[in-house]
Amino acid sequence: MPTASAMNRRQALVSGAAGISLATTTSQQLLAEDTKSEDGEPFELKYLLPSCMYGYSTLTEILPEVSKIGAIGIDLWPKVHGNQREQASEMGEAAFSALLRKNKTSVECITQYKLGPFGLKEEFRYAKLLGCKTIVTGAVGPRGLRGKALKTAVGQFIETLKPHLAAAEESGVTIAIENHGNNLIESPDSLKWLMELRPSDNLKIALAPYHLPQDSVILSDLIRSLGNSMAIFYAWQYGMGCMEKLPKSRELLQMPGRGRLNFVPLLAALKDVKFRGWTEIFMHPVPRGLPILDSTASVTAEINRSRSYLSTCLESIENQSNSRDNATAGTPGGKPKMTDDKKQTQKVVFDDYNKLNQREAYVILNQGTEPAGPGGYTMTKDPGTYICRQCNAQLYKAEDKFESHCGWPSFDDEIEGAVTRRVDTDGYRVEIVCSNCNGHLGHVFEGERMTAKNTRHCVNSISMKFIKKGQELPAKIVKKKD
Ligand SMILES: [Zn+2]
Repeated sequence: MPTASAMNRRQALVSGAAGISLATTTSQQLLAEDTKSEDGEPFELKYLLPSCMYGYSTLTEILPEVSKIGAIGIDLWPKVHGNQREQASEMGEAAFSALLRKNKTSVECITQYKLGPFGLKEEFRYAKLLGCKTIVTGAVGPRGLRGKALKTAVGQFIETLKPHLAAAEESGVTIAIENHGNNLIESPDSLKWLMELRPSDNLKIALAPYHLPQDSVILSDLIRSLGNSMAIFYAWQYGMGCMEKLPKSRELLQMPGRGRLNFVPLLAALKDVKFRGWTEIFMHPVPRGLPILDSTASVTAEINRSRSYLSTCLESIENQSNSRDNATAGTPGGKPKMTDDKKQTQKVVFDDYNKLNQREAYVILNQGTEPAGPGGYTMTKDPGTYICRQCNAQLYKAEDKFESHCGWPSFDDEIEGAVTRRVDTDGYRVEIVCSNCNGHLGHVFEGERMTAKNTRHCVNSISMKFIKKGQELPAKIVKKKD
């Protein structure tokens, strides 16, 4: 559970943001000045309003909200999530265009899962008519694949898509494939293959962090590798209230600033790649087809609450990069050398790793988990260093250990470079392994707000060995070449 003071800090952060991002033009202008990239364009998120956030409300009701959430246009959703795509058809093209003009907005995206990537021909025509350049849909193909089999399947999907892609190009439309659970495109690797193998810029990605591991390091790395092959970024995180009916407060944890995911690294990555696509603040209610909150005004206010949070994130990124610039301004030759004063000097030997007994091997080599409880190093509070059981590499400092009451030793920081994160085989959690020997350590969780660093390395005691302060560290073992 987050502590009361952590919650207060967070509330202060969110409520403080509202005044800065939504009210004054001066601070926005200042911010815009500050975020100018080399080519002179300021970095900002270009928002679209996903119509299904308002359930089955009428277009007449929704379109005036577009400008109220700082969006440029709308993403038209069909049933069952919304029904605005159907409303537009019923209204007829002339009346719908007139309504768009009246509200000084445009359709910038149409979402069409039901039609699928191979059934969009008629939708291309409609999109072109409206001047809409993006259609979001899902992929088709086998699921749960990895490695070479995954690459082959993504390649086959793209091959089948080619004639449809040609039709999209003719209409000036981009097909954006959203990653989704239980789908060919469901993992970071599948997204990278889609990006790498895509034959045309009219095939892009609609990135939904909701369906990916909830780890801001993995997500921001992914954003950096996908770059501008992303057409859409959903500002949307995993929350429990998406599939089963839960109290509204739980359902809303999908919204940026409400749930656990820290969006700062994600936005920093978007800024680094100079993301030019659309951002949609998003969530799914249960059941589908309802507005996320009771009234149109409250939906708009909730979206703006998340927008304030994202603005605060962008500001903190700006402040960080400014203070870095200031810190390096007087340093000859640019950035100061990174030093890691936490790491003790340690001998290195080239040898075989330490022998593991059966229980150790079960956890370290087979991603096992030791039972929770007060055993092992859970209660250890002595000063010193935690090293890898298998290779002796330094992993954690005692000063970064904290009492999480979760039943396993917990740290909110690692020794720099000592721990590698990767997507767990469950496709959702983030596994941590020793960077030297790849031995399994445990999992890392972010956004729980247990400590100021907002990170919890949940480590199996058996994966580590504790070396008390003052005792000599055994040599780190680097494996002999076989
Ligand atoms: Zn190791």
